[in-house]
Amino acid sequence: MPTKELEERVLLLVKTSRDVAETLSLIHSVGVEGVTCGDLAELCDQIEQGAAAIIMIEAPEIWDDNSRFLSILHEQPTWSSIPAIIITNEPRSEDLLPENLPLGVTLIERPIRKGVLMSLTRSALLARRNQYQVRDLLNERQSLVDMLRDEATLKNDFLATLAHELRNPLAPIRTGLQVLRLSTSKEDSLRTLEMMERQVRHMVHLIDDLLDIARISRGRLNLRKEHVSLNTVVDNAIEASKPLIEACHHKLTTTLPQQTVTLDADPTRIAQVIGNLLTNAAKYTPDGGAIALRAQCADGSVRIEIQDTGIGLSPDALTKIFDMFSQVDPLLGRSQGGLGIGLTLARRLTEMHNGTVEATSPGLGRGSTFVVTLPYVSTAPSHAPPPGEFHTPNRISHRILIVDDKVDIAESLEDLLQLLGQETFTAFNGTDALKAVKEFHPELIFLDIGMPGMTGYEVARQLRVQQLSPRPRLIAVTGWGAEHDIALAQEAGFDQHLTKPVDPCKVEEILRDLAPGPPLEHPTFAR
Ligand code: ADP
Repeated sequence: MPTKELEERVLLLVKTSRDVAETLSLIHSVGVEGVTCGDLAELCDQIEQGAAAIIMIEAPEIWDDNSRFLSILHEQPTWSSIPAIIITNEPRSEDLLPENLPLGVTLIERPIRKGVLMSLTRSALLARRNQYQVRDLLNERQSLVDMLRDEATLKNDFLATLAHELRNPLAPIRTGLQVLRLSTSKEDSLRTLEMMERQVRHMVHLIDDLLDIARISRGRLNLRKEHVSLNTVVDNAIEASKPLIEACHHKLTTTLPQQTVTLDADPTRIAQVIGNLLTNAAKYTPDGGAIALRAQCADGSVRIEIQDTGIGLSPDALTKIFDMFSQVDPLLGRSQGGLGIGLTLARRLTEMHNGTVEATSPGLGRGSTFVVTLPYVSTAPSHAPPPGEFHTPNRISHRILIVDDKVDIAESLEDLLQLLGQETFTAFNGTDALKAVKEFHPELIFLDIGMPGMTGYEVARQLRVQQLSPRPRLIAVTGWGAEHDIALAQEAGFDQHLTKPVDPCKVEEILRDLAPGPPLEHPTFAR
């Protein structure tokens, strides 16, 4: 019998068959089920299974010191005191009752009037129902407490992992700096620089993932959907994960559909999803493995499969890996660098595109396959341009003003721009920036937002009011990258918004977008 039914029964221990019939009919009249017990032992067994109330004839042994009946009533959980209506045969001295009579016990003397027993039974049932409500509330409270405790533990573990994960790339960067300082070999320096670049990229990736998860959780992540080809998105994903794949000496093969597949998607986000899966494939595959990316169309969807020959996943792990902060083997996960949010993010971003991500694996040590399915808009025969049709634009020199109160940030951007053959001027606060604009006439301004005194927003507003000709392009450079921050920058008159640390490739793109000037002799910045 289900627990709920057991706990709604009234248990009966009465002597004569006439008593049984009368009491049962009385219990039925209040809408509950009565269960007759043959003796005290059976009554005790039934109470242990659950009961709303007890109606019984007094038996002297129930008051014994070692009475099982009494101990069951006394050993109830704090919310429970089972109502027991005990019918006594004769007037009795109070002294004969045990001192600690259980709270739910009501004694009534014969002869009993039916109406009295009925009202006592009703009150007993009401009292018991209230007790059940208290129990349910207590259980609910306990689940909340457990959940909060689990969340607190998860949060603490997560913070520890985060600190660890951020420190991990910092260690080689710090050592790399020292190597650069001491090394006289160009080869060593280049290798160190590449390593530092990889580590910085990794840190930026961690922080971006974290911010994205926070945005999605608050419903603040807006997709910028457009019609984009699958190939473009896959190329961008490969570009992003290539450094790690190459560093691990994996062989990556790609098989894409012959036709051009057009998605209605946010290209950055879908590239991020595929990039995350490729990065994981590289991370969780021992050096020199194979990664295959295959995409094919069927039934209005494109199926993108990323298969590796790596450590694989157990059936148990497969059920958990998409949960937030879940890492199959945290020690391994940590040593590979990660926070256990990449797959959560991949799944949420894909779902925002009405797609799915699933994982399969034949077992530990036998590789894994992740499959992203996305709806596509159309397919068409591909018109790939013949090789050699692309050309690298000439480098052009422009006057560029850099404004940032953090000297290191300003100067490193200035160094980069000068290496790219640009004419630069640097200001470290808003007032100097406005002065520099008058004297230096920049075509492009990289402007920090959070400066003491006059903020970047204020500088931008004043510049836009001046209606300068030619109009300088204003690029906001800030650590805040939420939609809200981008909107604020737009309002203040900025043309574009970059989050720190600024990606050198983005800087190059911005330079390419500027109006043509005299060509430069410098080589293209290495990507
Ligand atoms: P992270 O890689 O930062 O730990 P993810 O959310 O990307 O977090 O992945 C969660 C966990 O899933 C990883 O810690 C790892 O244990 C497991 N995992 C992900 N991708 C693979 C893969 N290709 N092969 C084996 N295990 C994987």
